[in-house]
Amino acid sequence: MSLRLPAADESVLARRAQIIADLSAIVPGEGVISREREMRPYESDGVTAYKQMPLVVVLPETTAQVCRILKYCHDTGVRVVPRGAGTSLSGGALPLADGVLLAMGKFNRILDVDFANRCVVVQPGVTNLGITKAVEHEGFYYAPDPSSQIACTIGGNVGENSGGVHCLKYGLTTNNVLGVELVLITGEVVRLGGKHLDAGGLDLLAAVVGSEGLLGVVTEVTVRILKKPDVARAVLVGFPTSEDAGDCVARIIGAGIIPAAIEMMDRDAIAAAEAFVNVGYPLDVEALLIVELDGPEAECVHLLEEVRTIAAACRASTLRVSASEEERLGFWAGRKAAFPAVGRLSPDYLCMDGTIPRKQLPLVLSRMRDMSAQHGLRVANVFHAGDGNLHPLILYDAALPGEMEKAETFGSDILRLCVEVGGVLTGEHGVGVEKRDLMPTMFNEVDLAQQQRLKCAFDDQGLLNPGKVFPVLRRCAELGRMHVGGGALPFPDLPRF
Ligand SMILES: Cc1cc2nc3c(=O)[nH]c(=O)nc-3n(C[C@H](O)[C@H](O)[C@H](O)COP(=O)(O)OP(=O)(O)OC[C@H]3O[C@@H](n4cnc5c(N)ncnc54)[C@H](O)[C@@H]3O)c2cc1C
Repeated sequence: MSLRLPAADESVLARRAQIIADLSAIVPGEGVISREREMRPYESDGVTAYKQMPLVVVLPETTAQVCRILKYCHDTGVRVVPRGAGTSLSGGALPLADGVLLAMGKFNRILDVDFANRCVVVQPGVTNLGITKAVEHEGFYYAPDPSSQIACTIGGNVGENSGGVHCLKYGLTTNNVLGVELVLITGEVVRLGGKHLDAGGLDLLAAVVGSEGLLGVVTEVTVRILKKPDVARAVLVGFPTSEDAGDCVARIIGAGIIPAAIEMMDRDAIAAAEAFVNVGYPLDVEALLIVELDGPEAECVHLLEEVRTIAAACRASTLRVSASEEERLGFWAGRKAAFPAVGRLSPDYLCMDGTIPRKQLPLVLSRMRDMSAQHGLRVANVFHAGDGNLHPLILYDAALPGEMEKAETFGSDILRLCVEVGGVLTGEHGVGVEKRDLMPTMFNEVDLAQQQRLKCAFDDQGLLNPGKVFPVLRRCAELGRMHVGGGALPFPDLPRF
């Protein structure tokens, strides 16, 4: 896979032995990994097509150590890539040859369970599911549920603003994080938000969630927890066309119903998932929706009837409501196994992530089918239909010359289509290196420069995770200058001072 990372700084590479010695003094014992064989597991994240050995891996255990490491890197001009569990699907945790890989896995403690304030304070290396495990004995849970939740960390979730099947009703990470402790590249500790519901000043917490390790290193996270709903019922609804299914999603939401989840799978994905888990998915439909309703029993029963009526109006050919908790979990088992199941259809696949306005679903699904024919590659669709977050899986065979490049081009075309119909380049996987070069599709020069100014306010030397998110690496000083092309001043009506 073609990949452009910032050129390694030769002067840093030449100082490697000294840097390792200095970092070992800050994190003694086994906290510094520098042998090639031992660093190998860190050479990539969830996007295994990209690989790069780091300069050194450091595993701090305390915030004080993180402060000292970052201050050291700041003072000596060394780049830093923060890492949680390394499951990013956009290459966000990909190391740099001249950079410290700051692995936060040892920050794995639950610090405070506060039922009275309905929140939990955790270290960033705690897994997403670990938070629910810590509170489920009292009937609580942490709502955002990425499929990777047994492995991914809350620090990584904050980095990517991760989502999951239940984010339609309960929100993404950004809607469930109340506060963070963040160490800046200077070694300074800042606290943003907290157990209280609002904070004074600018909403910097919103900027930090989804910042992909570019603004600081998160060392503590306060998250909201929710009481588990009384009941949850899932419905499988099959359709003769994907367009009918897309129409049904738009009509359910348009009717004012916010299900806990609405997921869609197309024919290829349904067949693959059914062969994998045997839960009774209908095989004679082109598209399948899994709609989950939760809350008080009476509300669920009422909404189920409304969904049934809407589905019938959208030409649904099958409808099956889960009759027991076991059956509901069975419906989800197929969806959750869909990605590995699709892996059986093809030696390789590329998982894309883009978001569109819901009402564009029928159009986008039909255009994707045309693109599939044009590129000569199959595409299976398994996605969060309720929030318009697409995950097309482009099937290819990396052993065939040119197929991977073809798959990448197809993927880029899909993301451009998302932007064209009023959507965005990412839904939950972040930009990282994977979508970095497509950023100008969505943002113009001025937008990108403004975003970089925010980055500069946190990290004036651009040492934190450079080469990710922004298509062009610019020094902060450059952003102070204004380019006047052909004598035309940008925003001529704005006062200058
Ligand atoms: C099988 C599979 C299924 C997945 N399903 C989903 C899904 O349903 N929904 C979804 O949203 N994602 C999904 N993902 C993607 C991935 O799991 C998420 O993006 C997750 O949040 C990454 O967490 P992580 O701990 O692995 O972070 P990493 O991959 O290690 O890092 C992710 C980003 O966060 C930054 N970061 C990590 N820790 C910190 C920190 N302490 N401070 C500052 N920055 C930090 C990194 O620099 C990087 O930019 C899936 C991945 C896989 C492999």
